[in-house]
Amino acid sequence: MTTRRKKIYEGKAKILYEGPEPGTLIQYFKDDATAFNDQKKAILEGKGVINNRISEYVMIKLNSIGVQNHLIRRLNLREQLIREVEIIPLEVVCRNVAAGSLSQRFGLPEGQALPRSVIEFYLKDDKLNNPMVAEEHITAFNWASTQEIDDMMALTLRVNDFLTGLFAGVGITLVDFKVEFGRLYENDFARVILADEISPDSCRLWDTQTNEKLDKDRFRRDMGDVIEGYTEVARRLGIMKEMPTVIQGGLH
Ligand code: UDP
Repeated sequence: MTTRRKKIYEGKAKILYEGPEPGTLIQYFKDDATAFNDQKKAILEGKGVINNRISEYVMIKLNSIGVQNHLIRRLNLREQLIREVEIIPLEVVCRNVAAGSLSQRFGLPEGQALPRSVIEFYLKDDKLNNPMVAEEHITAFNWASTQEIDDMMALTLRVNDFLTGLFAGVGITLVDFKVEFGRLYENDFARVILADEISPDSCRLWDTQTNEKLDKDRFRRDMGDVIEGYTEVARRLGIMKEMPTVIQGGLH
């Protein structure tokens, strides 16, 4: 990078830089992969490029159905221009099929369809290992208001319905996903909009026919071919054309 930009925040998979105008930021997608709260780390070459592209694709589609989000536009292979929001310190998880921590907590076999979609909240705090929290905690500790919780739940269900259909159309089951929200201030009024990213880093995506995992569980569980899984998701969504550097091989 030639120009010196002010770094606002560096997370595990992304960096936020000051944007060109007030109220904007640049979101840079790194190749770093982390799991189990940073205990497992690797560089997955090309991951940032794929996630930038997949997240852009999904956010544009969501915007077109009225789910407002922070994306303004993608700038290049690794960066997007976004609206600056005040991030609500919660990870909102939505599940359709039992997997991961839900399977462990309740002894449900991975792959068992849930009777209905389930939404959970986790506190965004790595030091505390992102504990699951109840609405009571969220309002008592002022992480979000009751109205904001309602808004986040309604938006998450819309994202779930839309993404479930989008992925089903390309032979992928949306098992679960995590989203984050931010407050966009307009005068004295704060509106909750979707922020962060939606990518194979934050979703469980299984091939509908074979149940093959095409997401970050390939990394968490040492299954190999992580980038190939992500690339397959991008390929099926029809967004591979502008990705010259990523591997286009299959998973087998
Ligand atoms: N997830 C995420 N970031 C986190 C924790 C979870 O993006 O810090 C996503 C994860 O990829 C999955 C969903 O949220 O799609 C549910 O994850 P789960 O609670 O099962 O936790 P895990 O088994 O990943 O620890």
